[in-house]
Amino acid sequence: MSFAFVSDHLALDFAATMAWRTTRRTELLAEPHDFVRWAVEAGVVDELDAVARADLAEARALREAIYRLALSAVEGGPSDGEDIALVRQAAAHSPVRLALQAVGRVERRGGVREVLATLGTSASDLLGGPERLLIRQCTAEPCTRLFLDRSRAGTRRWCSKRSCGSRINSAAYRRRTREDLPT
Ligand SMILES: [Zn+2]
Repeated sequence: MSFAFVSDHLALDFAATMAWRTTRRTELLAEPHDFVRWAVEAGVVDELDAVARADLAEARALREAIYRLALSAVEGGPSDGEDIALVRQAAAHSPVRLALQAVGRVERRGGVREVLATLGTSASDLLGGPERLLIRQCTAEPCTRLFLDRSRAGTRRWCSKRSCGSRINSAAYRRRTREDLPT
């Protein structure tokens, strides 16, 4: 399964590693190496080793807390104190270190703890600041991805024009049954 980075925000791309949340929930971080691959592909860190199952469980718990808090920002509902505490704890550690090598080249170094701290920091910045008001949920069912609407008009409806937008616009899509939905 390949990862998509279309939410326009690191924390929201992380939240989207649990896909199709309201229908066929699909865990994209099934194994520790999935988390390694995601962190590298997301550009959080250059390489990452020694990810244990306990680390993966911690990463997923942080992800779910971020998702619930982001959703509460969208819906204007209450946010959970434990979720807030989880994000704060993750961000309390030192994040991934950036070592500039040359103009145009920076090395990103750290372990699991640092990666989770970077994600916690990213989520704190998003959820604690004005950008939280730009969080939207994709309207192309059954996609449940949250994304940041940076469009000037503030009318972006889909996480990705290429996937969800074109899927919704295609007549063929409308004829398909639920079983045929792309994963
Ligand atoms: Zn979508």
